[in-house]
Amino acid sequence: MSNHTPTPLSQAWLDTLQAGGYRITRPLQVIVEILANSTRALGPVNIYDLARKEYPKTGLVTVYRALEKLEATGLVQRVHQADGCHAYLRAANGHEHILLCSLCGQVVYFAGDDLSDLIARVEGQSGFTIQEHWLQFHGLCANCQ
Ligand SMILES: [Zn+2]
Ligand SMILES: [Zn+2]
Repeated sequence: MSNHTPTPLSQAWLDTLQAGGYRITRPLQVIVEILANSTRALGPVNIYDLARKEYPKTGLVTVYRALEKLEATGLVQRVHQADGCHAYLRAANGHEHILLCSLCGQVVYFAGDDLSDLIARVEGQSGFTIQEHWLQFHGLCANCQ
């Protein structure tokens, strides 16, 4: 087992999980470290492969359970990929949206969208009051073009 200090973000996640009543095991620490510091959306099998390098006894079921806990506590969000598989990445801070590279999974968060005209038009046409929206862009990052 390698000896490393958690980054401030992964320590904050571990504190949140602990406050939520979850037991902090070594595999959970490793999975948190991977996801908190990843610049790419990762699928469960990617996470499993990375976690096993750090802690070989990590099981795939453990990865799925950790993802459930991290999603339930709002630390991680699930994203849809072009191939229909789910991947996971750190949850956005406040009102941010993501750009996701369709080839390598690199993620960029951006703040600010200009949907107020669109929302007003759709509300006017439908009679709805719109409360929230999901927005995710897919494309090719600078390295993959
Ligand atoms: Zn890319
Ligand atoms: Zn928005």
